Amino acid sequence: MITSAPSTDILIVGGGMVGGVLAHALVQAGWRVTVLEGAAPGESPSFDARLTALSEASWRYLDALGLVDASTAAHAQAIEEVRVVDAGHFGMTRITRANNHGVALGEVIANRQIEQALIQARRALPPGALDWRQPARYLGHALAADGQSVCVRFLQDGIEQQQSTRLLVAADGAHSPVRAQTGATVQHQPYGQTAIVCTARPERPHQGTGFECFTRGGPLAVLPAPAGRVSLVWVNRDEDIPALMALSDEAYAARLNQLFRARLGRLTELTARSAYPLNLVTVQELTAPRLVILGNAAHALHPVAGQGFNLCLRDVRDLVDSLRADRGVPVDPGAAERLSHYTALRAADYRRTIGLTDRLVKGFSLDLPGAGLLRGALLSALDGVRPIKNRLVRLTRGI
Ligand SMILES: Cc1cc2nc3c(=O)[nH]c(=O)nc-3n(C[C@H](O)[C@H](O)[C@H](O)COP(=O)(O)OP(=O)(O)OC[C@H]3O[C@@H](n4cnc5c(N)ncnc54)[C@H](O)[C@@H]3O)c2cc1C
Repeated sequence: MITSAPSTDILIVGGGMVGGVLAHALVQAGWRVTVLEGAAPGESPSFDARLTALSEASWRYLDALGLVDASTAAHAQAIEEVRVVDAGHFGMTRITRANNHGVALGEVIANRQIEQALIQARRALPPGALDWRQPARYLGHALAADGQSVCVRFLQDGIEQQQSTRLLVAADGAHSPVRAQTGATVQHQPYGQTAIVCTARPERPHQGTGFECFTRGGPLAVLPAPAGRVSLVWVNRDEDIPALMALSDEAYAARLNQLFRARLGRLTELTARSAYPLNLVTVQELTAPRLVILGNAAHALHPVAGQGFNLCLRDVRDLVDSLRADRGVPVDPGAAERLSHYTALRAADYRRTIGLTDRLVKGFSLDLPGAGLLRGALLSALDGVRPIKNRLVRLTRGI
């Protein structure tokens, strides 16, 4: 037997980082929203032990949505400076507050802290404003015969249920089951690299400085984290991962420090390492009738420039803006013209951010003789060339 829930304006599949923020923004804009999150509370892969570097613009956006309360702000670390270096070669470029009109370049915050902020914000909503279902697993969807709604099937408490919605949003991550059902064209490009992530305590205070260090296997990001710690994201070739994961904490810290020239002194108190295989996943069609694909379901990027979630938040902002009422005239959230407006808004940002991230990965992973010297020269040159450096600053700031 299939039971039916009352119809809704917008149904979001995926209550991770993107679905969670989107739900909040849409409820604030006056929509009736349902979220289906497949993982049990506390088990969403979105809110694992990682930390996320948010650009200044993303942080301001979360703040404007009311998601940065005193506790969230106290658990974030401001990025005062970013240094880009090439391991073993000369050359460095540096972006500081001074390049950013005296404002911090962004904030680093634990994904679990973002989850806490979202849970707090949900508790503060008026009763019935948001129908948050968890665990509730999406099973499939079908457009109604009159084209005016989509019927979504899902499994909750062992019972198959359905709900009709005027707009279905796929925020269900890089392996998106909703996207798979639309038959959208997906480009899947493996980088042959995996990111190993953990945190550590450095001997010397990081003073808000982040480092992006290009190494033979891939980039190493050392991000300033709250409570005097650092977040370490080291990208390596897939074949080198088992050996690196098997190292003791001391041996792993020593390897990092060798590359990083111990700029912050010894690294101790390492947390457990997690590995993330890296692919570039993009989708050709962002929309289908009464359906939008966004967040990692639309674009999963290499973490080299820390742009993935920042790009996702701009998806959220542009979708909410595209659905806004026009001079008080009621809006159908699934209307084709609204969805094509959204697609048009996103095109340039996708080209720029996805293109630049991909070029950075390829440019800095080259292992040919002399490539390191070239990169060093490039970084030094970059440091002195204002227009290029300004572009880097704008990318870092998320604008
Ligand atoms: C190592 C690493 C470091 C990163 N660092 C940064 C950074 O510093 N800055 C930055 O901007 N970005 C960063 N990113 C990118 C960022 O993590 C992602 O862009 C972001 O997590 C995408 O969120 P999402 O909600 O779209 O997808 P996901 O996080 O994948 O969430 C999808 C959600 O959908 C749910 N779901 C899946 N299937 C179903 C179903 N059938 N039914 C119901 N629910 C379902 C899942 O349980 C999950 O909760 C990093 C990524 C990696 C891998």
